[in-house]
Amino acid sequence: MNKEIERLIDEIDLLQAAPAEEPMRQYYFIKKCRQYVKEISEKLGRPLRAATVTFGCQMNARDSEKLTGILEEIGYVEESVEEKADFVIYNTCTVRENANQRVYGRLGQLNRVKRKNPHMLIGLCGCMMQEPHVVEKLKKSYRFVDLIFGTHNIYKFAEILATRFESERMVIDIWKDTDKIVEDLPSERKYSFKSGVNIMFGCNNFCSYCIVPYVRGRERSRNPRDIIREIETLVADGVKEVMLLGQNVNSYGKTLEEPMSFAELLREVEKIEGLERIRFMTSHPKDLSDELIEVMKTSRKICRHLHLPVQSGSTDILKKMNRRYTKEQYLSLVDRIKTAMPDISLTTDIIVGFPGETEADFQETLDVVQKVRYDSAFTFIYSKRTGTPAAAMENQVPQEVVKDRFDRLLKEVQKIAAEECSKHEGTTQTVLVEQMNEQDDTLVTGRLSNNLLVHFPGTKEMIGQLVDVKLISCKGFYYIGEAVK
Ligand code: SAM
Ligand code: SF4
Repeated sequence: MNKEIERLIDEIDLLQAAPAEEPMRQYYFIKKCRQYVKEISEKLGRPLRAATVTFGCQMNARDSEKLTGILEEIGYVEESVEEKADFVIYNTCTVRENANQRVYGRLGQLNRVKRKNPHMLIGLCGCMMQEPHVVEKLKKSYRFVDLIFGTHNIYKFAEILATRFESERMVIDIWKDTDKIVEDLPSERKYSFKSGVNIMFGCNNFCSYCIVPYVRGRERSRNPRDIIREIETLVADGVKEVMLLGQNVNSYGKTLEEPMSFAELLREVEKIEGLERIRFMTSHPKDLSDELIEVMKTSRKICRHLHLPVQSGSTDILKKMNRRYTKEQYLSLVDRIKTAMPDISLTTDIIVGFPGETEADFQETLDVVQKVRYDSAFTFIYSKRTGTPAAAMENQVPQEVVKDRFDRLLKEVQKIAAEECSKHEGTTQTVLVEQMNEQDDTLVTGRLSNNLLVHFPGTKEMIGQLVDVKLISCKGFYYIGEAVK
């Protein structure tokens, strides 16, 4: 636990009214929740357990670390099996429709567990909760859910939980938008040696298929001083690698009182002593500057990996997607990046079956894949999201056509990724060891600067260390290696 937060919580007098300012207000409710948790725990004669379940992207994974941090401060012990937990919180995603269906399915199962264990609490938060029709459905058909909140007031988790302990009724607290950023809340990292760091929230791009701007609100950047302070604290606590997070990191700084570019922020982060690796995501191609390419090229710490979502290779479709670049502009950007850094690994996101996509459009996408030669790509079938402009577009592509294109794309992506991966065979590169291998406990697993996975003989003492490894044999999308003494 963070000692400074602990000291501030100790000083709080619960007989006084809750403070108005943050984060003190949340510390007050953390202390209040501790009392409730202690009482129930004493009745049951055991500690209370909580499971945080994350759906979706790295942004949600980072939010979940904040939820877990608050739960631990309140007195819950972390539990990985939902069915064994006294409190389960689902941090939801709604980027594609199937993400929503998965949550409803899992909630049905959890209801059966709750019937046998009535003191169990169930919470829902995250992107899906920002959709009014979801909350209506939950109110009507999922009355056993105890608390519901959205993406903008996640920092209020302790306060919402305290309200639930006091009211015994479903608590719903959803905000439409916010310009608020609350600093200095507890957070519990999944890995001791690496961490995500939010540098901005929300998105202003309104790609026509995407629900994110509606559920995550307008773009706002964190103050650079807060970002640097957070990373310095993380490094002092053993972190070697940070992943700077934002929906479009290349437009970082535009909302600050003293605007600052993303490249300038990276220069500052680079100066932090003890920090070994810097990653970031996601980069929107329309905003990727030559200044950023230059900073990446000269940096010793920025990893040789760039995730550059293309979405489609057809200029017509890109226009309908409101991506604001053409196929030619994207390819010329890739050229500039590869000229500056020939060893860079490029990855991407691609959507298949956007409304109106013809076979010729799809061939353009395949052409981009063949020209760029991505090291890997996330391929998605277009999912219609209510409220986005694309949902109302004509010419939705039939499912069987989409499926056929998707299979052909995946095959091409995998073939090229395996060829790109094999290029490193025989070289020695530095690996940040992340964990013991899940199948073979004589091996450890880690990542290269270019994000490729490597398994090699090692022990648990190596976890969190940077180790030079000879890449012996390529297995398609990962390596088997050997530590170099
Ligand atoms: N901000 C990032 C960007 O601009 O690339 C990514 C955000 S989104 C959570 C991650 C990916 O989901 C997108 O790059 C896109 O490929 C995919 N995606 C978003 N909306 C989608 C939809 N309606 N159907 C299918 N895939 C979608
Ligand atoms: Fe969605 Fe586009 Fe914003 Fe990414 S940049 S979050 S794809 S609207």
